[in-house]
Amino acid sequence: MRNKIIVGNWKMNNSSSESLELVKKINDLVVWKSDVEVVVCPPSVYIATTVKEIKGIKGCQIKVGAQNGHFESKGAFTGEISCAMLIDVGVEYVVVGHSERRQYFGETDEVVNKRALCAIKSGLTPIVCVGETLAERENSITEEIIRKQVKLILNGISENEIEKVIIAYEPIWAIGTGKTATNEQANEVCKSIRNLVYELYGEKVSEAIRIQYGGSMNGENARELLSQSEIDGGLVGGASLKAEEFSKIVNSAHNDNN
Ligand code: PEP
Repeated sequence: MRNKIIVGNWKMNNSSSESLELVKKINDLVVWKSDVEVVVCPPSVYIATTVKEIKGIKGCQIKVGAQNGHFESKGAFTGEISCAMLIDVGVEYVVVGHSERRQYFGETDEVVNKRALCAIKSGLTPIVCVGETLAERENSITEEIIRKQVKLILNGISENEIEKVIIAYEPIWAIGTGKTATNEQANEVCKSIRNLVYELYGEKVSEAIRIQYGGSMNGENARELLSQSEIDGGLVGGASLKAEEFSKIVNSAHNDNN
């Protein structure tokens, strides 16, 4: 059975003190069990302090991710942060190809592929995001679009490396909009991603790889979404900023709850 993973993407939110307060509250509210991994992705300037704070909270099992990581190890890339730097400050995961990076910073599948490859080689677990626009869904080309994105992003990732990858299916029309994909829609696309992984890497890998859903997940809808057979966790934006909501999502991910 695949362990679930709930990732909170804080985006460009929270001050230093708010970040620390949030992890403390999450730790108080979450029921820690080994079947669910919990990750928070603070803004880059607060990553190091968040790692330190978590280490100081007794029994806290929150892991830290980054919202982005560059594909070069060092050099003249103003404003970027390398995967090696992320590892250096205790980061374990990195989100790559979030739709906001694609929309506002022009990231293509090819760039996302380079970031994912570098993350793996550096020892980070990449959480690679894919998703269709509303127009693409309405034109019934969701599966085609997702297959194309996944194929391009996984290009060059070997069979040994692929198990380290997490894929997040995030329909763009559901991100930050309050509109959630139905359980069936989300499960269907996650299933088609798993089928593609099967075609590319075989059964063992396709059964092991974790595929998350993201898009307006909250304390109310999480249980149903997370009980779908192909959904192995959630990538959570807005609701990850509220300790009660986020903890509710984590607690509903436990095996005995779905
Ligand atoms: C996200 O940004 O990845 C996301 C899923 O956001 P929200 O939960 O706010 O829709």
